[in-house]
Amino acid sequence: MRPEDGGGNDRVQDELTEAFASLRAASRRDRIPDAETRKRRLSALKRLVIESRDEIAAAIDADFGGRARAETELMEIVPLLTALRHASRSLRRWMRDERRPVALTFQPSRAWVRHEPLGVIGILSPWNYPLLLALGPLVDALAAGNRALIKPSELSPEFSRLLARLVSAHFQPDEVAVVTGGVEVAQAFAALPFDHLFFTGSTEVGRKVMAAAAPNLTPVTLELGGKSPAIIAPDYPLEKAVRSLLLGKFTNAGQTCIAPDYVLAPAEKAEALAREILASVQRAYPDPQTDAQFTNVITARHRERLVAAIDAARDAGATILQVGGAGQNGKVPPTVVLNAPEGSLLLTEEIFGPVLPIIAYRDLDEALAFINARSRPLALYAFTNDRAARAKILDGAISGGVTLNGTLLHIAQDGLPFGGVGDSGMGAYHGRDGFRRFSHARAVYKPGFLNAFEHMGPPFGRLADLAIR
Ligand code: NAD
Repeated sequence: MRPEDGGGNDRVQDELTEAFASLRAASRRDRIPDAETRKRRLSALKRLVIESRDEIAAAIDADFGGRARAETELMEIVPLLTALRHASRSLRRWMRDERRPVALTFQPSRAWVRHEPLGVIGILSPWNYPLLLALGPLVDALAAGNRALIKPSELSPEFSRLLARLVSAHFQPDEVAVVTGGVEVAQAFAALPFDHLFFTGSTEVGRKVMAAAAPNLTPVTLELGGKSPAIIAPDYPLEKAVRSLLLGKFTNAGQTCIAPDYVLAPAEKAEALAREILASVQRAYPDPQTDAQFTNVITARHRERLVAAIDAARDAGATILQVGGAGQNGKVPPTVVLNAPEGSLLLTEEIFGPVLPIIAYRDLDEALAFINARSRPLALYAFTNDRAARAKILDGAISGGVTLNGTLLHIAQDGLPFGGVGDSGMGAYHGRDGFRRFSHARAVYKPGFLNAFEHMGPPFGRLADLAIR
């Protein structure tokens, strides 16, 4: 469904309402699908990904105007399949009722929690990892027994169209459905009375999504962005940190929500670090402008924003180190920035591109103050082998998640919740945390025979005297 197909807003709204109504009716009819049904749906999703692996990589490559198949496979397809496997294997255990303790006063009796599906989950996803961020939440939603409606990004149109086609081929329209379209469709989508709305995207749009969900009292999970810092403590060897920074910042040309946005380095090492990063980028992408392994920046508008931010920093006296000079062929050259001026876009907005400012600090307190002067980040990377420094950093600055002595890898742990805090989001998913996110923890209490409360009722007399002590 696309507004550009003609037919205008009313038709878009009707189709959206119809797709949602069908999912909702099915979710009310078959409220709690058994483990077999859930596993069948997860298997259908697995088949969808494996059978269409080539088409998926090609569509994403087309949307970026250049993104290597290897990057799509490693960063999107592999983690998605891992999450699917983990959910399929763990499903029965996650679904089990959970016995809870009962206070002595209420004995004999039993209390337990049932993890029930919520119903219909809305998933609004971005363009930067279009497969993983549309279907990753779906894994958790299906494992928890829900139905889902997905609206992928209009900035990855080839992939979005492919996803719509693949989902309708592998699922019944009342199991999982995809709607495509631009901001208008997204707005109408966010206003549907979902049982839960799961949004991945920018902090700014996240605010709008939460506001749109509020009249329906639809609970939201917001997976947002922000400026994720990497701190290199004085004890840590630079050459070891550099490899991880290369992975975190230049994979997908820095268009990664948990990419290290900037690096805090001891003042006396900042310049050496900048040069080492540059050298390692040069080894990885000797000629980034023509290198198919170095991903393009998604649109001309995004490229212009990054180039303008680099130019503004240079004009304000920053040192700009680049591999390959001016960007061409849809690329922004890998860039390291020293002495970026306070207040510049590079230090105020999420960069979301292959541009890495290095901030020199005198001591860890100053580094932590720099982080804490900004919004709460999605990720934090601390490079140190010193226990005291590690504790100081973990205690001193909050973030959604953390990888120590590395970057990105906490997102790949199925046993860990993934999510933000403050401006970087609310709620977390992945694995059991995702299952719980999309479940209603329903409390059930059953008094046993001879339970004293069986005989309780007004008038109460001095009954409370027994409890108030
Ligand atoms: P975006 O917020 O512009 O768009 C995301 C989705 O929201 C799209 O599907 C879009 O159609 C929809 N949308 C746009 N306007 C809307 C509105 N008014 N109401 C409802 N929906 C609307 O984000 P983007 O540019 O696609 O992605 C980049 C951002 O996403 C970055 O900030 C990045 O950090 C963040 N991100 C976060 C995570 C995470 O897991 N926390 C992952 C990837 C990206």
